[in-house]
Amino acid sequence: MSGLMLAVLLTVAGANPDSLRAAYGKESVPTPKLPGTSLADTLDTGNPEVKVILYSDHTWRYVRDGKKISKNKVFTEDWNEVSTNPYRVAPEHLPDKVTLWIVDTLDSYCCPNKTQHSSLFGYRHGRRHQGIDLPYPTGTPVYATFDGKVRIAGWTGGYGNLVVLRHANGLETFYGHCSELKVKAGDWVHAGDVIALGGSTGRSSGPHLHFETRYKGYAFDPMWLIDFKTGELRHRLFTLRKRYFDANSRYVQEEDDEEVIAEGDEKDRIEAEKKAKEEAIARQKAAEAAMQYYVIKSGDTLSKIAAKYRTSVSTLCRLNGMTVNTKLQIGKRIRVK
Ligand SMILES: [Zn+2]
Repeated sequence: MSGLMLAVLLTVAGANPDSLRAAYGKESVPTPKLPGTSLADTLDTGNPEVKVILYSDHTWRYVRDGKKISKNKVFTEDWNEVSTNPYRVAPEHLPDKVTLWIVDTLDSYCCPNKTQHSSLFGYRHGRRHQGIDLPYPTGTPVYATFDGKVRIAGWTGGYGNLVVLRHANGLETFYGHCSELKVKAGDWVHAGDVIALGGSTGRSSGPHLHFETRYKGYAFDPMWLIDFKTGELRHRLFTLRKRYFDANSRYVQEEDDEEVIAEGDEKDRIEAEKKAKEEAIARQKAAEAAMQYYVIKSGDTLSKIAAKYRTSVSTLCRLNGMTVNTKLQIGKRIRVK
């Protein structure tokens, strides 16, 4: 990379998402480019799946090469373009908890809709509600929440027009009741790409977006991940617990996995300190047990004693705080080891 290019990379502002959504790869969703913005250059990085894209307005972004990454197992196994749950994993085979990278420096995130939800996850009128409903006027763009591959784009029962995206961490996001779909199964999308338009198709009493987050086919409250009031992602590293799949397990604000982790760290630290102290005491005891003493007799010299205990005069001096000139006193105990 040239110095100039590097300088550009280091000094420009963050990428304009609209400008780059469109520009990368044939599998990207064609979104109109902003006027005056065009692709200036594509740079390789150390990771063959990752490129840097530069735009004529000096914006840039890391992007994953959809063509390469979409060949990863997560995008090929348990894959079909019809079923809302192609995994068929028995509940007893779900992990008690799994920690997922939600976004890293390469991925991005786009809030589906910064709003007050109109209906929560959980039971509603005696029927299980697998996601949350976000007010969404018909025709409003529906954005991909994370980078991923379109698994379903079509009419799917009560969902009406549905888009299901699968993401590299194994999560799937669902976007239901859309009026119009802007992607097709197999497309690679980046966070923020327009994948559909809001609507009221399927079992819906008015325009809204039905949004779900699923893992291995099991839905959990999307509010564990996203604060829809602020539009912020709650976690970059998210611990998904099996109990979240329970139909009545709604997001609880007090629960903070990061605090739990910090608490765990503190416990580990205290435990490690305790162990270190115990080891120090044990070492001290072992050293004491290894000490040997000798009672000076008539005719002894330091070199005689050193020879007897296979040590040196200087060691004897050091252990007893003496010099070679110190007069040995008969009957005095000296340390020899
Ligand atoms: Zn809903």
